[in-house]
Amino acid sequence: MADNKVAIVTGASRGIGFEIARLLVERGWKLGITARGRQKLEEAADRLGTANAIAIACDVADPTEVEDAVSMVAGRFGPVTALVNNAGIIDPIGHIHELDPDAFMQLMHINIGGVMNMSRAVLPAMIAARSGVIVNLSSGAAHNPVEGWSAYCTSKAGLAMFSRCLAAEYGGRGVRVHDFIPGVVSTDMLNGAQQRFDNAIARLDEGAKLPADVPARCIAWLVDEGRVEGVQQSIRDPELRKLVGLEERAQW
Ligand code: NDP
Repeated sequence: MADNKVAIVTGASRGIGFEIARLLVERGWKLGITARGRQKLEEAADRLGTANAIAIACDVADPTEVEDAVSMVAGRFGPVTALVNNAGIIDPIGHIHELDPDAFMQLMHINIGGVMNMSRAVLPAMIAARSGVIVNLSSGAAHNPVEGWSAYCTSKAGLAMFSRCLAAEYGGRGVRVHDFIPGVVSTDMLNGAQQRFDNAIARLDEGAKLPADVPARCIAWLVDEGRVEGVQQSIRDPELRKLVGLEERAQW
């Protein structure tokens, strides 16, 4: 656990990111929360109901905005000791020959470039402190193709390797890195994707979907306690669930 509990959670205006922010506040962390849409982000910060969480509208794909956001958080609370790279998009969805190439690359800029931008902005302080934790939101789609989700699957596969590279370069310098698979989670992203394209995930029954606070509990635990070895972590791992204290369910 870091002495100076200062975190940034990207994409925290809704979904899994908001729940991570809520749980980190409960665990005594000071937070910068980010998303592109300012109004929803400020409403989310209001819902957190604490002066220990500040909302900073920021596109993770823009390195300058990211550097400014990290400086603002450090200026307010002190050096950032934890980063949760949660922001991500799933569109464009469709068969590969029908996808817009610009939209395909924009997804890469956000889902991979965003993680790079955020990581490079927080790493100098973590290296100086010889301490820090970075959790990247991965997906089962990193390891298994999902029809119509080629851009998303490809980005999450790239992110899995980026997480391993981060761990290889900075693990020896006190920075713990995890790439976390949250399962199938009922959020705007997943529910919207299910409605827009028929594939195996669209056909999952409602019971297969987790509420956002369930994976968020694992992520808050990884940030705050994280007594586990290994970059890759998954909610489907019963050992991790036991450590976090999650109640068992019929489906994960
Ligand atoms: P949501 O779409 O519900 O929330 C995404 C959040 O990211 C929003 O706050 C959004 O705000 C923000 N965001 C999107 N693009 C950017 C950007 N360029 N810069 C900054 N913020 C951005 O998604 P989920 O909660 O479902 O997903 C969160 C993470 O979990 C994602 O990385 C996703 O890939 C991953 N995941 C989700 C699963 C699921 O089943 N839901 C399964 C596996 C992984 P705004 O649009 O205003 O920027």
